[in-house]
Amino acid sequence: MRYGVAPDNQKMKSVTRVLRTAFDHDEHVRFIGNVRFGIDIGRADLLEHYDAVVYATGAEGERRLGIPGEDLPGCYGAKEFVDWYNGHPDAADRNFALHARQVGVVGAGNVALDVARMLVRSPAEIASTVVPDRVLDAFRQSLVTDVHLIARRGLVQAKFTPEELRGLNDLDDVDVVVRPEDVLLTDEDESRVGSNRQLRTNVEMLRKWAQRPLRGKPRRIHMRFLHRPVRIVGESCVEGVLLERNELLADGRVRGTGKLEPLELGMIVRSVGYQALRLSGVSFDETRSSIPHRQGRVLDEHGDLAKGEYVTGWAKRGPSGTIGTNKSDSAETVCNLLADLATRVSYNGRDPEQILTLLDNRGVDYTNWANWRRLDDHEIELGRAQGRPRVKIPVLQSMLELSRRSDTPGCADHAD
Ligand code: NAP
Repeated sequence: MRYGVAPDNQKMKSVTRVLRTAFDHDEHVRFIGNVRFGIDIGRADLLEHYDAVVYATGAEGERRLGIPGEDLPGCYGAKEFVDWYNGHPDAADRNFALHARQVGVVGAGNVALDVARMLVRSPAEIASTVVPDRVLDAFRQSLVTDVHLIARRGLVQAKFTPEELRGLNDLDDVDVVVRPEDVLLTDEDESRVGSNRQLRTNVEMLRKWAQRPLRGKPRRIHMRFLHRPVRIVGESCVEGVLLERNELLADGRVRGTGKLEPLELGMIVRSVGYQALRLSGVSFDETRSSIPHRQGRVLDEHGDLAKGEYVTGWAKRGPSGTIGTNKSDSAETVCNLLADLATRVSYNGRDPEQILTLLDNRGVDYTNWANWRRLDDHEIELGRAQGRPRVKIPVLQSMLELSRRSDTPGCADHAD
């Protein structure tokens, strides 16, 4: 919620209220923060101290385009850009000077839309979100006027959902530019859309936008379907991209036409999907980039059930689906976990305090729920002073210090 959901999606973030009640009111749930798996604690430690372990580590890596010029300064992965505007502590020493007027976003998923939307939002709109102060400053100085969303396939094959697409139209100062030729569907596409409500809504929305005159807004998002970046161009930094026009095949795949088209850009964000990373000591399927499992029960390297280990979310099924998908996904894992525990004859009589002793002995600077609530209160208080839902603290050391301050106010009802 804090680092994955876009800062301007306050409605989605409100789910936090529900999730928080487990920690606030249930003495059986304990939060231990600032503990790094594989560094502070390992798989063997967890299996020794708990009857079951659930890996819910998401997808920390991301795919690359694999084209020349991708490592030029000015070409970034969506994750580093998203981590920055979301105030992720791993991005605390990074800043993005938004000095380019023309920006390319490669990909046609919801993350690409999040990035494009944030890039063209007015500073006043950004100021009503939860971004850290330095991120807000960067957006206030942004020179971005045009964002080109570059999709290698057609609009029917795009991965974004109608609600996210509609969000582009709700922006105060932005025109969405759709080329009329991009909304002409092949017969195969028409039958693919058929009665699929989601696809139909996307197609109708984009068709409407293709027909209407531009409103003369100061910033624009250009939807560019059936184009594939072939090379990122520039001497010492990004100066543009060379695109190849694709044509759609009957099965929904595409083929290059050989027709090349340069596009001048000062910055590129590739948003072509995340990837789960291997956890130290935990089995991993390199081909699927996920933890192998059977209905949430982890499989070891021989394909046998690994006793006491479970997986959920993107680490389980790959980086797809929305918050709701994770709910049903985790329900499956937890049902199986409970069924397994019910068949266990005896437990080890573990002392729940032992894990804290282990962390203490290793000098791990762990935090608890009260610490988190103090930081939470502090961020909300900072936000209140500026008329914002909260202002995130992006630096880990400051987060830790604030979470331990005794003068932070009591626990309020939180918005984020
Ligand atoms: P995604 O939905 O898988 O989209 C990835 C996009 O990148 C696709 O359009 C894909 O095109 C394209 N792509 C992949 N490789 C490419 C390449 N080499 N060159 C050009 N394009 C390439 O992934 P995502 O956008 O990262 O989102 C991840 C998940 O989070 C999704 O399930 C998404 O719905 C969810 N999410 C939800 C929300 C929300 O609900 N508000 C917000 C953000 C994210 P092809 O289809 O041609 O492969």
